[in-house]
Amino acid sequence: MENHYLQQLQPKPGKEDGRAVKRIVPGSTIGILGGGQLGRMIALAGRNMGYRFAVLDPTPDSPCGQVADRQITANYADEASARQLAAMSDVITYEFENVNAGVAAVLERESYVPQGSELLRTTQHRLREKQAIEAAGATVAPYRQVRDMTDMREAVAELGLPCVLKTATGGYDGKGQRVIRKAAEAADAYTSLGGGSAELILEGFVDFSMEISVVAARSPDGSVATFPPAENVHVGGILHTSIVPARIDPQTADRARKLAADIAEHLKVAGLIAVEMFVGKDGSIYVNELAPRPHNSGHYTMDACNVSQFEQHIRAICGLPLTEARVLTPVVMANVLGQHVDPLLRWLRSGGERELPEGVTAKLHLYGKAEAKPGRKMGHVNLLTDDVEKALRWVESCGIWT
Ligand code: AMP
Repeated sequence: MENHYLQQLQPKPGKEDGRAVKRIVPGSTIGILGGGQLGRMIALAGRNMGYRFAVLDPTPDSPCGQVADRQITANYADEASARQLAAMSDVITYEFENVNAGVAAVLERESYVPQGSELLRTTQHRLREKQAIEAAGATVAPYRQVRDMTDMREAVAELGLPCVLKTATGGYDGKGQRVIRKAAEAADAYTSLGGGSAELILEGFVDFSMEISVVAARSPDGSVATFPPAENVHVGGILHTSIVPARIDPQTADRARKLAADIAEHLKVAGLIAVEMFVGKDGSIYVNELAPRPHNSGHYTMDACNVSQFEQHIRAICGLPLTEARVLTPVVMANVLGQHVDPLLRWLRSGGERELPEGVTAKLHLYGKAEAKPGRKMGHVNLLTDDVEKALRWVESCGIWT
């Protein structure tokens, strides 16, 4: 691939990727499976473009339901409700990867689902995901499948300590994994993650200097566009801040974008794929995991780029030309979790925005969730800045995130 920032192919309506390619124009209805914040931000971007939205979510007045034309309130596994969503939608997308296989089959049969279900099958399972990443030419941390305690002992001996035990399915935000630092902790980690019944994977510990991620978009016609990498800082396993430009050399940033483009191409993605990576101390890049949807670390694009990840996703699934993404200003994205809501509101009430450092503008996004539980993603702030260090110092000192 020549230009992995944007490889725009000539429009070829037809049967690329063996799937029918349609152009879904504004005025059409986009159906979203899942009514969380990612669905909400897809709908907000799409409404600006003139699309209508229907959403299926079990919670009444879901974050996406609040801004969509219609919400079907039903369980994600309810095939009759999925059928109802299909009937009112010209194209269907999903905002989370653990879509029920039966529902995916109904939607594919009865509606247009350009993302397909194969990518879901791959990204729902860490072992399949790692194999796909390697097949695309990228490197992952060394790993072993763990089926029983004998596998576990052998894998620990081969990969060395520390290492990380993960469930093959269902983990998110650092859940479903345990770091093993001493051999004596192996049996406990195995039992606590459901060893024997749950499928497990042991990974070698990557002593990384930084975590980064790249969001790539691919159209069913084969066009691919990538966003610049975000540098990600996690606290307690949950994303805390994303910093753009990432503080890596341009060659590493370029390699990261190329890897993401290659993975998008290899997996024949239609829509977005977020690629999470570790940058090793020697500059080598390990791909950690994939998410076949908009990603928390891509929220910076909403205010700091010429196109947001949400608009790009809509462009990809609707068969519109992708936009070559450019960053217009340095930015720090800070997540607002449940425990940050009260201090944030106090800060807003006291007129705190007036005291932002000079050269920093705060763009606040709240997701309309009723209950602010600790650790729950309630919103984020994009701090547009002339200097990311200044914005980071403010995040650490303003009293909202302490
Ligand atoms: P994951 O659920 O795979 O995204 O992992 C959550 C977080 O745990 C990552 O963002 C890393 O900070 C850390 N982590 C996961 N796997 C490894 C690994 N093999 N080596 C070092 N840190 C890891």
